Amino acid sequence: MSKTISILGSTGSIGRQTLDVAEQMGLRVAAITANSSVERIEEQVRLFKPRLAVMTDETAAKDLAVRLADTDTRVIGGFEALVEAATIPEADTVVTAVVGMVGLKPTLAAIKEKKRIALANKETLVCAGELVMDAADAAGAEIVPVDSEHSAIFQCVQGCADRREIKRLILTCSGGPFYGMTYDEVGKMTKADALKHPNWKMGPKITVDCATLMNKGLEVIEAMRLYRLPLEEVSVVIHRQSIVHSLVEYRDGAVLAQLGTPDMRLPIRYAMTYPERGVNPAEPLDLLTCPPLTFAAPDRDAFPCLRLAEEAATEGGTACAILNGANEEAVRLFLADKIGFHDIPRLVAEARAKVPVVQSPALEEILEADRAARQVVLGN
Ligand code: NDP
Ligand code: MG
Repeated sequence: MSKTISILGSTGSIGRQTLDVAEQMGLRVAAITANSSVERIEEQVRLFKPRLAVMTDETAAKDLAVRLADTDTRVIGGFEALVEAATIPEADTVVTAVVGMVGLKPTLAAIKEKKRIALANKETLVCAGELVMDAADAAGAEIVPVDSEHSAIFQCVQGCADRREIKRLILTCSGGPFYGMTYDEVGKMTKADALKHPNWKMGPKITVDCATLMNKGLEVIEAMRLYRLPLEEVSVVIHRQSIVHSLVEYRDGAVLAQLGTPDMRLPIRYAMTYPERGVNPAEPLDLLTCPPLTFAAPDRDAFPCLRLAEEAATEGGTACAILNGANEEAVRLFLADKIGFHDIPRLVAEARAKVPVVQSPALEEILEADRAARQVVLGN
């Protein structure tokens, strides 16, 4: 049970919902971080009075320090400062809610300090899942997933002492805004279309990843790393309503699922209260009024990113870091109106073809693979 938390990425979608939960639960907030959202983090500091506030953007950090001169909160800037927020001694739990691979080093640092990791930042597990899980095992640090599918699975495996009893994980996928379209129809979709998610309100990067189905691909890899399972034991099913958050099939044929309304505050709260359950003030799921639950197979031809992620997962080594680095840069270009929707899988495939894969990589080799993949995309 968490008492004091540090939030990496407090100004984002997950970060703000974590602060809602912290307020409801009466948790103390020791440190918060943002990249450049100065006004939003200033408000958060005044409300939650953390000892430390970090801005990775140095200019924004200077601005924030001036604004907070009348408070007791220390302000520091730069990427290394994220590590300081992740290792702040008074926090027992670190919520990793930054977007992208930038979360890797602070997550590893927090693990070494044996903090509980409430993990939203999936890119970290995608790029360096084996390293992160090995480090957590070695330090005895708990990793509790916040991603709704992985939280659902985490909840469904409570009480399962022998992982060999699990036959298969089934990740549900909303299908995104372009569900049902052909490859050619999807190619005509714009940034505004991609940013309209049917069920969840999230940050822009993950919203685009949901439209390409790369998000589900990243989640397949995240699940493989969290539960140390091969690709064959992690499958994906389209479930438009986002009510069944994921399922676990056991070897005796039992299939366990976790259901709920699409609200990230439930998995965030569970990551804090685990192994207990806290009180949630929100309205629970009403089976009599919720829409009929439907399931379908994903279309890997219309959405090639899912296949690209599964191929990288099979290849292993630095393949997933290359996939992720290329995807982060391609999505950034798409959000800046520099490329079209189908250029995202095209650039990811190009980076995968050009950057050699290293097996059993050390951290430096993962970071190098990430850099090389970004260069392929940016040099295009
Ligand atoms: P947002 O874009 O809403 O927020 C991202 C946060 O990270 C902000 O605080 C932002 O600061 C900060 N940030 C952005 N870039 C950098 C950087 N280069 N260095 C340091 N900090 C940075 O993202 P989300 O909250 O949607 O997603 C966060 C993570 O959680 C992602 O990995 C996502 O995949 C995962 N996730 C999100 C879900 C959701 O419902 N949103 C669901 C499941 C997983 P600033 O405001 O200053 O830009
Ligand atoms: Mg998810």
